[in-house]
Amino acid sequence: MYSSNILYPVAMIGTTNQACSLLHPLCQDLRGILYMPEKLPLIDEKTLYYHSPLKNHLADIFLKNRALVFCLAAGAVVRLIAPLLKSKTHDPAIIVIDPEGKFVISLCGGHQGGADKLTKLIASYLNAEPVITGVSNTLNLPGIDILGFPFGWRRGAGKWKDVSYAIACQKTVQIIQEGGSFLWRKNFLNNYNFKFSLPDIKRDQKSTSYIIISHRKYPLDTKADIPTIQWYPRVLWIGIGSTRGASYKLISDAISTVFDQHGLAPEAIAGIASVDLKKDEIGIIKYCQIKQLPFFTYSVNTLDKVSVPNPSAIVKQELGTASVAEAAAIYSSNYFFNNDTVLLVSKQIVKFEDQAVTIAIAQSSTEYIGRKGKLYLVGIGPGSLDQITPAAKKAIAEADAIVGYSLYLDLIKSLFHPGQIIEDLPITEEEKRAERSVELAQWGLNVVVISSGDCGIYAMGGLVLEKLKNTYKKDNIIDIKIFPGITALQAAAARVGTPLMHDFCAISLSDLLTPWSVIKKRLKAAAQGDFVTAIYNPKSKTRTHQIIVARAIFLKYRDPNTPVALVRCAYRKNETIVLTTLNEMLGYYIDMLTTVLIGNHSTFFYKDLVITPRGYHHKKMQK
Ligand code: SAH
Repeated sequence: MYSSNILYPVAMIGTTNQACSLLHPLCQDLRGILYMPEKLPLIDEKTLYYHSPLKNHLADIFLKNRALVFCLAAGAVVRLIAPLLKSKTHDPAIIVIDPEGKFVISLCGGHQGGADKLTKLIASYLNAEPVITGVSNTLNLPGIDILGFPFGWRRGAGKWKDVSYAIACQKTVQIIQEGGSFLWRKNFLNNYNFKFSLPDIKRDQKSTSYIIISHRKYPLDTKADIPTIQWYPRVLWIGIGSTRGASYKLISDAISTVFDQHGLAPEAIAGIASVDLKKDEIGIIKYCQIKQLPFFTYSVNTLDKVSVPNPSAIVKQELGTASVAEAAAIYSSNYFFNNDTVLLVSKQIVKFEDQAVTIAIAQSSTEYIGRKGKLYLVGIGPGSLDQITPAAKKAIAEADAIVGYSLYLDLIKSLFHPGQIIEDLPITEEEKRAERSVELAQWGLNVVVISSGDCGIYAMGGLVLEKLKNTYKKDNIIDIKIFPGITALQAAAARVGTPLMHDFCAISLSDLLTPWSVIKKRLKAAAQGDFVTAIYNPKSKTRTHQIIVARAIFLKYRDPNTPVALVRCAYRKNETIVLTTLNEMLGYYIDMLTTVLIGNHSTFFYKDLVITPRGYHHKKMQK
């Protein structure tokens, strides 16, 4: 079962002290178990001894873990795991780290095993070089064998190895897609070896292999010598009605018959739908269980409102709705998404002895992913990769889609994997970006929304949650998590000393979303209250007077010599720091990449440090 989550459980194996100390913190970040040899002292209660010889121990734990991370010579690992490897669909991911922690090697199970992803994440934790040798990674493409998993597509038959080989040799590959999302295409479009077409377009003569993405059953051997593979997006919704007690076999045969007659692929079924009366129909329930499909039922009233091509007066009289199969097919295909639905197959009746099954099939333009989506709001800190929390890095590594402003996405692009959907909308389109994130998560993707600093401080977080509230739908519940980041005021403070050692506040001078009168009121209160004040968004190209007014307000309540720090691009390549005073501050460059820190009445400079004493009140009271 595909999961975009980083692999779990994970076992780590070290044979020396050095190796175990390198692996131990990783175990904590990845919730892994560290196995050590008996001759070494256990590091803590979460580490375990492996009982020698290691080869026997590995045989025990091999299939119980989804990833094995070794800190050991690669050659030794190869010999140890060789007898245990079976197939790339079942083997765990195998990762090797050198004892100095300079390289992290994705040794086995790069795509389906998830080793490439985990390798990159571990490398980012260790500040090491990820070594990923798969060709698709070199070409910056997602593995063709995992391409559709984020969208819930099912993998079909075909010559997978041959098609992968053609891609590796950079031969022309024709991709014929007639359904499902196009979001995966971005990386492929930049690669001239791929030709895209719709099914009715003639096959490209130069193509050496085909990738077909369709809900129809393609004869995979149209050109016997040209390797072809197929992915099935789940876009077909079956509306079903049956006589009471229709058997599983009848249901299954009826669906197969109708699918065969219309050249459709059962792998592309998204779900089955009917009227509430059929909720406990055993044949249908068993079919859904075996095929791992959802079964939705709707009330007579709901179905009666759906306009269908073949309403039946008799059914209306008996049940209260003029259609079950067609109405349920159309309604279910539209329930999750507002999309274009086509009734592909109008109702067909399949009879066997005294039983009958009615089937209609609707096709939706958006595929059903069938997973609970995730919406993670992630703060990436001020700018450099080592100021991002390990939890945030993990969330980014696990994302199917990453949404954010391009400047911030650029700062973290080394953490991305080929195949992740990157949506970099312009900074002015925050609302759209927020809506899009909610939409993608409700669809079933793992969505990460990136903000610089902290995601809940003058950032995307609030906007996204507001949008979520407005689009709440009871069946579209998603998992929401918030990952804090180091906010600009902390980053700026850390670059200049300890200016925030006493009560402080943050004020944004941006009056785009807040009336200027409110901002002025807060500036005055902060100045009067002797708060150390961090000013965000101090000055833009068009907003230039606010910082002048802000300084004037502070000067009314604070000494002109009050220390001020202007920290621009903290923890980024072009960082600049100016230590000045309230009096002098406007003589220096301030812009939208600057945080202005204004000290309180006891803040002082010491060499090139800004210090706010901790014992402010205490000292006064002692006097
Ligand atoms: N969510 C962000 C704030 C975004 S508002 C956070 O928590 O940090 C944008 C403002 O933050 C900028 O105008 C600037 O004042 C400040 N800022 C963000 N990153 C910064 C950095 N690396 N150095 C200095 N100031 C920064």
